[in-house]
Amino acid sequence: MASLTVLEGPRPGERFALSALGAGETRDLVSGERRAGTIPLRVRRDPDGFRVEAAAPAGAEGGTPLRVNGEPPGGTPLAHGDVVAAGGLVLIFGEDDEDESRDPAASDLISSRIEWRLPAAADAGAALGAAAGSPGGAAEALLALGAALAGERRAADVLARAAEAALDVLRADRTAALAFRSGHRGVRAAVTRERPGLAPGPPPRVARAVADQVAAAGATVLSRDSDGGRERVALCAPLRGRRGVLGLLHAEVAAGAPRLGEVEARLLAAIALLSGGALEAALSADDRERYGRRLRSLAAASRRLPTLLRREAILQEAAALAAATLSCARTSILLRDDAGELRVAGGVGIPEAVAGRESAPASGVAATVLHGRRPVRVADATAPGAPAPAAPPGRYRSRSYLAVPIVARGGEGAADVGAAVGVFCATERRAGGPFSSEDADLLAILASATGAALAAAEMHEALSLDALTGVASRRYFDARLAREVRLARQGAGPLALVLLDLDRFKSVNDTHGHPAGDRVLRAAGGVLARAVRGDDLAARTGGEEFALLLPGAGAEDALAVAERVRADIAAGEIRLPEGEGGGARVRVTASAGVAVLAPGEGPADFVARADRALYRAKRGGRDRVVPDGPAPPRAPAPPQGAARRRR
Ligand code: GH3
Ligand code: MG
Ligand code: MG
Repeated sequence: MASLTVLEGPRPGERFALSALGAGETRDLVSGERRAGTIPLRVRRDPDGFRVEAAAPAGAEGGTPLRVNGEPPGGTPLAHGDVVAAGGLVLIFGEDDEDESRDPAASDLISSRIEWRLPAAADAGAALGAAAGSPGGAAEALLALGAALAGERRAADVLARAAEAALDVLRADRTAALAFRSGHRGVRAAVTRERPGLAPGPPPRVARAVADQVAAAGATVLSRDSDGGRERVALCAPLRGRRGVLGLLHAEVAAGAPRLGEVEARLLAAIALLSGGALEAALSADDRERYGRRLRSLAAASRRLPTLLRREAILQEAAALAAATLSCARTSILLRDDAGELRVAGGVGIPEAVAGRESAPASGVAATVLHGRRPVRVADATAPGAPAPAAPPGRYRSRSYLAVPIVARGGEGAADVGAAVGVFCATERRAGGPFSSEDADLLAILASATGAALAAAEMHEALSLDALTGVASRRYFDARLAREVRLARQGAGPLALVLLDLDRFKSVNDTHGHPAGDRVLRAAGGVLARAVRGDDLAARTGGEEFALLLPGAGAEDALAVAERVRADIAAGEIRLPEGEGGGARVRVTASAGVAVLAPGEGPADFVARADRALYRAKRGGRDRVVPDGPAPPRAPAPPQGAARRRR
């Protein structure tokens, strides 16, 4: 089933199923989130696949034009794992190989009477021997089948050869050949054939009881039943590989045409025996090819993770990516908090009540995974002896789940490297049935990319934040200043800078001690942090010097912000604890200089102008805001009268 899943947007993990879209039709995607509404993306289904186009004209609201894997969409249809970006949203295209609706085998609706069983054929030689003794050129047909199978590489082609040979050799009305999914849960591939000239009717189906007998015992079974009013006699033989029964080969005739007997059973068993080996080879080739495709698309999509540099964004995207890659409705990322407890830090499809909570219900499994640093894959959480599921099993679509460790890479101390920092869980497979070991491998790869991206974000935070005050560091300020100056010169709008210096701060240190001075600096940092929003940046640029970078702000807006900060600092009173200055109260003031980027100006001149204004504020008596330029120093204005900026 084809789908687009939101990786980044208002509802990460939201999945748009595309199977209902008819050939030649187009559809606009509408999010379940009211705020998101119509996604600026139109999907078209052509005979050769799905394509995307912009639903709104490029450059309209949302801004970013449509991109597929970073490029404008070309002429080719979407392929599994393609990443589509439009108007601030990022989606991943996926095609599940397993179609939930297609299960021609094993209908519970057919009740059948099993007449007799032929024990599992010992070897191909015995089966061919039986065929050699049968009439009608069966031996030649089997030899021809063997030769044909040697050339088939795809499971569907092997099944087609088997179904055709059975139709031909047994002179049956209808035949079916099918391959199970792993664990005999449903059908992975199926092929049916009918004798030409047969009255139209439903395709052949295998009764559940027969399928179970053949799969479990490896025997060939003759049964008699009625399917949709069609009275029939059917033979069913196992398609066996070295690892057991991989599928079924079914042949049926209308009841009353008693052409199916023991000879036919042996012939069918011989065809199945020849086809089983070829099927096994083809299935593992299919598996390898499918795994390679999933691996490549996961690698391409997870390359974005370390570039996000924000913990929340990384968790959100990794969880959505896991859901898309594993085709499951629920993923969660549990991380250790400062106390070492596992908490749900992010996920897709997790109930509101669970988010952010301690992982108490999952503690058993998650703790095992965390401390053992080994993945856990449970096929059926309700089976006896299975580790406890992360929630009551009744609420789940499937009873299988995966949990893999997230391992820290490049952590601060050498002792941290290789330690598990969290657990990545997945459950609720959309197709039902258990996760494969391949799924576990893919999740482990994604968990490792997530761990590395989280470490990168932590490192980025450490480098970009000032450790004492929590506002941005000087280093980060310099980088952002250069970028914002460049953007403003490209026409992004005005850019204002406020430089702020605490007044007579040396005397705070001299009077109350250095720790008290630090306390005052933290309080001033808090005032600045509360004053900024959106794209604004508050930074500590020196000992008791701060800066505000205000993209989009003109002189009036910037003066208002600076004045608000000045007033808040002046109004604040810091009470020192007993140890530091014996409960004294400290008040400080600050002076600020404001400049707006002039046309053609570089970062150094811009800062120098703001600094000159700051100097004038100090010279003018401190505790005031002074704009750069000829305007005279102005007295502090009442905060209420300050004009609102931008928003
Ligand atoms: P002015 O009003 O002219 O700015 O006077 P001032 O005393 O604030 O200016 P000056 O530059 O002479 O002194 C700055 C003081 O800031 C000196 C230094 O001890 C103090 N300082 C710098 N960094 C820190 C810090 O991290 N913690 C503490 N407690 N004090 C610091
Ligand atoms: Mg100072
Ligand atoms: Mg100073």
